[in-house]
Amino acid sequence: MSEGVRTRLWIGNEWADAEGGRTFATVNPATEEVIAEVAEARAAEIDRAVAAARAAFRDGSWRRMNPHKRSRLLWKLADLVEAHADELGLTETRDNGKPYFEARRIDVPSVAQTLRYYAGLADKVQGDTVPVPGPFLNYTLREPLGVVGAIIPWNFPLSMAAWKVAPALACGNTVVLKPAEQTPLTALRFGELAAEAGFPPGVLNVVPGFGETAGAALVRHPGVDAISFTGSTGVGRIIMREAAATLKKVSLELGGKSPNIVFADADLGVAVKGASMGVFYGKGEVCAAGSRILVERAVHDEFVDGLKGLAAKATVGDPMAPTTRLGAIVSEEQLDRVMGYVEAGRRDGAKVVAGGERVKVNGRGNFVTATVFSGVDPAMTIAREEIFGPVAAVIPFDDVDDAVAKANDSLYGLAAGVWTRDIGKAHRLAAEIDAGTVWINTYNQYAPGSPFGGYKESGFGRDLGFQSALEKYTHLKSVWVALDR
Ligand code: ADP
Repeated sequence: MSEGVRTRLWIGNEWADAEGGRTFATVNPATEEVIAEVAEARAAEIDRAVAAARAAFRDGSWRRMNPHKRSRLLWKLADLVEAHADELGLTETRDNGKPYFEARRIDVPSVAQTLRYYAGLADKVQGDTVPVPGPFLNYTLREPLGVVGAIIPWNFPLSMAAWKVAPALACGNTVVLKPAEQTPLTALRFGELAAEAGFPPGVLNVVPGFGETAGAALVRHPGVDAISFTGSTGVGRIIMREAAATLKKVSLELGGKSPNIVFADADLGVAVKGASMGVFYGKGEVCAAGSRILVERAVHDEFVDGLKGLAAKATVGDPMAPTTRLGAIVSEEQLDRVMGYVEAGRRDGAKVVAGGERVKVNGRGNFVTATVFSGVDPAMTIAREEIFGPVAAVIPFDDVDDAVAKANDSLYGLAAGVWTRDIGKAHRLAAEIDAGTVWINTYNQYAPGSPFGGYKESGFGRDLGFQSALEKYTHLKSVWVALDR
């Protein structure tokens, strides 16, 4: 087993086995080799992790800790993540299949940034005094919710862990983190590094396992106060339904089919590059992927030519090679799903102008070439459903109203891009598009202070941000004091 790979459950700052030594394999999608056998949590192990998190919440070791010290611990964890950046990046690449330079240069540094941002929140969890009639003092307190269950996907395993864990902990909650079954490894190491930083036992617990068993047990558990979920819309629906039994606070960051809108007055070269990055970055396994590219008719053909050229340059290869732009799709199952959509696009009469091929690298692995469809009708499956792979659907539009109507013609509303030199038009669209994030003349920008989440069936609640983190991870308590007795 290589350095940094931990395979047991992380509960109460200790490694633990699952009942009967039960394990599951995690596979490197670029080589199809088993990286490790990982202890598999089910209901009994979730019980143990929740008990550890509850105990740590009740005894006050975390929520009553001097907030400056909580802040320092989060900062220290950021330092440790940076100190182990090579190792974490390598583990992430092997588990997920993404290019090493992305994991090492983008994901891991962003994790440290997120932790530091929320280190700054830890001593600012404060309420207000409220002017009320009568001889009373009224004030509000922001209090942690208790135990937060965090359920995360496989596309940005460590970043997603940080998006959930950092604000939840900063607000004084304790956490049970269930990473995705495809990519459990960096989260386990993250738990261990938190202990090294000095987090008390039970504050952060990491329990890999499958969704229908471990995830479902966490959602149902009466000892869990809130579920913070990122994943598919289908599973989001199940979680919301299941959480109703115990009336847990739920936040859901779900799927998307984000429109990226290119006007004829845009700098076309820049827009083509931005659209390419918007849909192909991270193999397109990105909730906010700009997978519906709406292009004003006057520049449609030129745009498609440009995108086709960039798709051809999106080198598919060994994730460890610095020239690789498209790594391996996370699993064979996911690649099958992506190829199913490529087939559906062909069957529905859209034209593949680039890619669309399943390939092997050195004779193995789950790879697909960057794919561009033109001649896409908005009613086609590839224009409506989230593919979660490097597949772009290009759709022409006629004018601003048509662009807005087409952009909003989706069950989803996670993100959108607008490319234009007309500042008025840009802001008009920013206001009219139903999406949690709108990027103007850029795409896929994220920062810890900027809230991220969806409209419509892309979910509700926001990851990141300052006020949004307080709303998501704290109760607001109102305290009344009589001043005349
Ligand atoms: P994807 O389609 O991207 O794999 P999923 O929504 O299936 O996304 O998975 C995201 C996370 O949700 C994973 O950690 C997975 O194990 C978990 N999950 C899947 N099904 C359930 C469920 N029924 N209850 C709770 N968590 C689940």
